Amino acid sequence: MAISKKSSGGKAKKYVYLFGTKKCTEGAADMKNLLGGKGANLAEMCRLGLPVPAGFTITTECCVDYFKNKMKFPASLKPVVEKALAATERQMGSKFGDAQNPLLVSCRSGARKSMPGMMETVLNVGLCTRTIPGLIAKTKNERFVYDSYRRLITMYSDVVMEKAEGVEPEEGKGIRVQLDGLLQKMKKAKGYQKDTDLTAGDLKKICNDYKKCIRVVLGKNFPDEPIAQLWGGIGAVFKSWNGRRAIAYRNIEGIPDGWGTAVNVQTMVFGNMGDNSATGVAFSRNPATGEHKFYGEWLINAQGEDVVAGIRTPSPLNEATKSEHNAALVSLEKAMPRVYVELDSIQKKLEKHYRDMQDIEFTIQDGKLYMLQCRVGKRTGTAALNMAMDMISEKLISEKNAVMRLAPAQLDELLHPIVDSSAEKHAKLLAKGLPAGPGGAFGQIVFTAAAAVAWAKSGKKVILLREETNPEDIEGMRAAEGILTARGGMTSHAALVARGWGKCCIVGASSVRVDAVRKTMTVGNKELSEGDFVTLNGTKGYAYEGKLAMISATENPRFKKFMAIVDKYRILGVRANADTPADAKNAREFGAEGIGLFRTEHMFYGKGSDRPLFILRKIILSGTTEERRKALKKLFPFVKASIKATLKAMEGLPVTIRLLDPPLHEFVPQDPAKQKELARSLGISAEDVRRRGEQLHESNPMMGHRGVRLGITYPEITEMQLRAIFEAAAELIKAGKKCKPEIMVPVTCDAHELSDQKAIARRVYDETLCKMKMRSIPHMYGTMIEIPRACLTADKMAEEAEFFSFGTNDLSQMGFGFSRDDIGGFMPEYLNKKIIAADPFQTIDQEGIGQLIEMAVAKGRSVRKDLKIGICGEQGGDPASVEFCFKTGLNYVSCSPFRVPIARLAAAQAAISAEKKPKRK
Ligand code: PEP
Ligand code: MG
Repeated sequence: MAISKKSSGGKAKKYVYLFGTKKCTEGAADMKNLLGGKGANLAEMCRLGLPVPAGFTITTECCVDYFKNKMKFPASLKPVVEKALAATERQMGSKFGDAQNPLLVSCRSGARKSMPGMMETVLNVGLCTRTIPGLIAKTKNERFVYDSYRRLITMYSDVVMEKAEGVEPEEGKGIRVQLDGLLQKMKKAKGYQKDTDLTAGDLKKICNDYKKCIRVVLGKNFPDEPIAQLWGGIGAVFKSWNGRRAIAYRNIEGIPDGWGTAVNVQTMVFGNMGDNSATGVAFSRNPATGEHKFYGEWLINAQGEDVVAGIRTPSPLNEATKSEHNAALVSLEKAMPRVYVELDSIQKKLEKHYRDMQDIEFTIQDGKLYMLQCRVGKRTGTAALNMAMDMISEKLISEKNAVMRLAPAQLDELLHPIVDSSAEKHAKLLAKGLPAGPGGAFGQIVFTAAAAVAWAKSGKKVILLREETNPEDIEGMRAAEGILTARGGMTSHAALVARGWGKCCIVGASSVRVDAVRKTMTVGNKELSEGDFVTLNGTKGYAYEGKLAMISATENPRFKKFMAIVDKYRILGVRANADTPADAKNAREFGAEGIGLFRTEHMFYGKGSDRPLFILRKIILSGTTEERRKALKKLFPFVKASIKATLKAMEGLPVTIRLLDPPLHEFVPQDPAKQKELARSLGISAEDVRRRGEQLHESNPMMGHRGVRLGITYPEITEMQLRAIFEAAAELIKAGKKCKPEIMVPVTCDAHELSDQKAIARRVYDETLCKMKMRSIPHMYGTMIEIPRACLTADKMAEEAEFFSFGTNDLSQMGFGFSRDDIGGFMPEYLNKKIIAADPFQTIDQEGIGQLIEMAVAKGRSVRKDLKIGICGEQGGDPASVEFCFKTGLNYVSCSPFRVPIARLAAAQAAISAEKKPKRK
């Protein structure tokens, strides 16, 4: 055993905590950070007087120090482990390494947050030449002892001698595979079908063969000294924190590398000692549906690993939860009624104590029940909702507790159809991209928007596959079940649109090569053609070949009730980004309290947009102001109608209408027929159209002639839009409707831009009042804050603006200097290598961009106390960003309609969490 010579100095850290009898137990449930979830809960069960085999937990802090000391145990650890072992021996009445009455232990991992199956375990530690005869005499079961020894040798050589030592065998040459090969060879030679056919003599021989094989393959002897096995086991569990699986899991779950794992050294109890022994896992409620029934599986004469490994089909725990698959098997309730009653009362006690659904592991050794683990059980979104609502009625938890019980991402699950996870497990992964639009979808691939529309019309389900999408694809995107693009980031056009519609979408799948001409897609050497089926999991960003089963998102009737409770505790407002009356209606249904971003240019995409788009193109390509004014006049009724319809759909609620912000070249037609038509209408040649279009070309359109710059250079465009807004509002007010337009100027970087446009607004407002014979039209004038300079000069901006709305898509783009449409090429590597913690287009970068936001809020409110502030970038629907917005004192977040419930929940959770902490300023 390698021990660090370095003394920690000062008071020695307490690295080991005992558990067992109530009196000797040192840990408790609230010590998860130090003892890991498993250790803390074992201690808590001991405090409750439940039957838990005694043992001790080595802390996560020790694991961290172990890694700091170049994988050497701290010097103070050895004596405390020896003392803890002695205490365990006293409680269990047996001795570790003793020839007559040996104690065996397990070494199990246990991180702060459960990482199921990601780290290592060694069982039956302490079996050796010296202790085997004693255990045989004690159990009178030679077969069981050699079976346990066989399992120890297998696990130990695999986990401690191979993995922990960093040995990387060739595929199929690992020690576990080789040992299994020996076992299979013997079974074959003897004509056995099952492992249980092996006799004590067979197992004894196999143990010897195993040891020989280990010597040859790994060049070392399997340790025959219990204490050496114990230290080997402890070290291997620590090291498994940095095993490949554990690292990958942490990356996905966002678990910090610096936490470390605890090691639980616990007395072994055996579920494989005969037909009076068993092992099982259970949940205090059904984790898939939330149904309030004790639910689980058990196996007679087996060890825990047999249940988890799925080698044998487990039996149902009780009669009430039998299914068609296991109806013929005997339940624990029937087989061991006394033990079942005890287990049932323990699960009830645990649930009452923890006030949450428990996931428990138990073993029955020779008719006696032992509890090996309890933890809060993982559950589906539906189950989480049902459990939370049930537990309120049962008075087990408060409303606030219930609000905290659903992860915002679980709401997503409730709102979209999802890919059946069991089908996904066996499916062939085709490509990975960014999870842009949630839920699941399957369909036949098509390569153009037109094909998507045509195929969908004929009743086919299609997945639109594009290199990247542009506004001309919109109809195809609408018609498709899902969208897959090879390029683009989370805020790319496809992603924005898809999320807005709640459509499944994966963008930036950079391994996909799209050949729209040959109508094929290739990934590596796999080629798919038009009409082939693929399935998308937009929540994960995974694309699969073929058609996978879906689970439909049945709207739970309790969802609305739950959301009403959520709103009781929410302080932050939640609005939606919506551009059409249909989206607005959707947003209202999802509980939006207004529109935070109405992108006016969206009236030029999709259904019914042909005419206004044609006029817009004329405006863009106009050679003179006069020509432009003429075209603007024609566009005016369309703009007014679009705004009026949305204001009406949101009656009584605020609607933030953004002035035009398109990169102009997006609207120049590429199609020669359309170019010709436009030329005819403008009285110029098609060549002129092409040339004028070329003149509009910009090298960097994202930072080009867009947003307010358009209004500064073409004030008549601003004027037309403002007139449309004021007249639409005025007409609605005259018709007895309430409406509150908020005029928002985009892409501003200086207060003078705002004063320039405000002058136009004042003039048009007065003209409208005069025309409509009205005294006032309620409205506000404000700006997007999406350029870093706007944050730095926010005090000046607030002199002109009555509200700010953070456009965190552009603010992140310009703050990082990352083009939001081109991050697919490097973001995955940035995330893999942990250069940055998360994609800043999905979640606000609080460290950097967050400072800009905080500064803008402080500066803005320093000159205008009641400055209304919101956010309308895509991050507005991300739970961590919602919490940040709440803490920073924003008035509302605005996100796509389907994310509104998620934002509402995240906002309520932020408010409840903040109650526990000191009040915000
Ligand atoms: C933004 O930049 O965050 C924003 C909402 O505007 P857009 O995505 O339309 O540029
Ligand atoms: Mg923007």
